[in-house]
Amino acid sequence: MAWYCSGSTNTELVENLFKAELIKNERVKEAMLGVDRAHYAPSRPYFDSPQSIGHGATISAPHMHGHACEYLIDHLYPGARVLDIGSGSGYLTHVLANLVIKPGQTGQDPNQGRVIGIDHIPELVDLARSNMNKSKEGQRLQQLGLVQFITGDGRLGWEAEAPYDAIHVGAAAEEMHPVLIEQLRAPGRLFIPVESEYTATETALSYLGIGHGGQWIWVVDKKADGSVQKEKVFQVRYVPLTDAPR
Ligand code: SAH
Repeated sequence: MAWYCSGSTNTELVENLFKAELIKNERVKEAMLGVDRAHYAPSRPYFDSPQSIGHGATISAPHMHGHACEYLIDHLYPGARVLDIGSGSGYLTHVLANLVIKPGQTGQDPNQGRVIGIDHIPELVDLARSNMNKSKEGQRLQQLGLVQFITGDGRLGWEAEAPYDAIHVGAAAEEMHPVLIEQLRAPGRLFIPVESEYTATETALSYLGIGHGGQWIWVVDKKADGSVQKEKVFQVRYVPLTDAPR
C-alpha cells in the first residue's frame, strides 16, 4: 500500500503520510514525529507496511497506527487514561502516551495522563519495555509509571486502572467483549477489530445468503449519559486476539 509514503527517516515517513492524507490530524502527526519507529520495527522501520516482530505478532503499518489515533483523538486529551490491548512492539503505546501525557508531567498529578499496554506474550511485554527504553523520554515515562506494560489477557481489559477514556485493541477479537465497554469512561471510545460482528441489516441479509465476512474495525462510543453506540467503519487484517500460546 502506498509505497511512496515510506521515507528514509522517521520525519520523512510521517510527513509523507500527512501529505498523502493518510493521517490528517496535526496532533497525531506531532505524536508520531515524537517516536522513532526504528526503536520498534526491526527492519525497514520507515516503510508503510506491517513488519514481523516474532511470536506470530506484527507491528502494524504506520498508516494504521495513524488511523487508530485519529479515530480516538477526541478522547486523547492531555490527562486522559488509555488502554492499548495487544501492545506488541510498544510503538503505538508510546504514540498514545505522547498524546495524553502532559509535557513535564512528574507522576504526582492526580489528573495525570496514563497509558497501559497489555499483551499476553511475556517476551513481547519485555520487548515493548526495552524498545521504549531506547529513548530518554520513553525511559522517563516508564520510570514515572506513566506508561506501563503488563502481561495479561487483553480480552478482560485491565480493571485495576479503569475507567479509560480510550481503549485501543491491536488484534482481531472474536466478539465485542462487553467487559471492554464496561471499562470505558462515559464519555469514552473503544477502537476494536472484530472478526464476526454484524449490523442489524447485515444479519437480515445473511438470512438471504448474502455474507459480510472478514474483520472490521468497530468504534464503540459510551456517551456521557452511559448509552452505547456502535459503528462499523472499515475492513482490516489483524492477527487474532486469542488464548495465550502454551
Ligand atoms: N499494536 C501492536 C500490534 C501487535 S500484533 C503493534 O503495532 O506493535 C497483535 C498483538 O496482540 C500481539 O502482540 C499478540 O501477542 C497480542 N495478543 C493477541 N491476543 C491477545 C490477548 N488475548 N491478550 C493480549 N494480547 C494479545
